[in-house]
Amino acid sequence: TERTLSIIKPDATKRNLTGKINAKFEDAGLRIIAQKRIQLTQEQAGKFYDVHRERPFFGELTEFMASGPVVVQVLEGEGAIAKNREVMGATNPADAAAGTIRAEFAESVGENSVHGSDAPETAKEEIAFFFSGLELV
Ligand code: ATP
Ligand code: MG
Repeated sequence: TERTLSIIKPDATKRNLTGKINAKFEDAGLRIIAQKRIQLTQEQAGKFYDVHRERPFFGELTEFMASGPVVVQVLEGEGAIAKNREVMGATNPADAAAGTIRAEFAESVGENSVHGSDAPETAKEEIAFFFSGLELV
């Protein structure tokens, strides 16, 4: 089985959607094996999204990610990385398939309710960014 890092973003925690989003993960066969609610500083959000530092939306993205609490979680299951991205839907909710989290809940391309790791190497790094080995069983 595979593990991936998921973040329920501030637009979604603000609207009290954590349970509805988690139900989508569980219905898809993903198991939530670790989860905590935290608030990032803009600097921490920048470190997490460092790969986007030169993009024009970097300031907007990090400001948004620090604007309220997020729920960081580790999802486990067969093909969890791809499965999670399928359940999330396309980055822009206007392009997201019906029934996906972003189609149902996202407000815009920036405030799009969830993050999911995009490859095994980034999943490993992103899980270690938020969770210690002791928190993962
Ligand atoms: P994530 O990495 O959050 O799971 P993703 O992999 O679908 O999403 P990326 O291309 O990695 O999308 O972009 C990271 C995040 O940056 C997006 O989820 C979104 O919040 C924000 N973002 C991407 N493109 C734009 C844009 N054009 N304008 C504003 N924000 C954007
Ligand atoms: Mg991404």
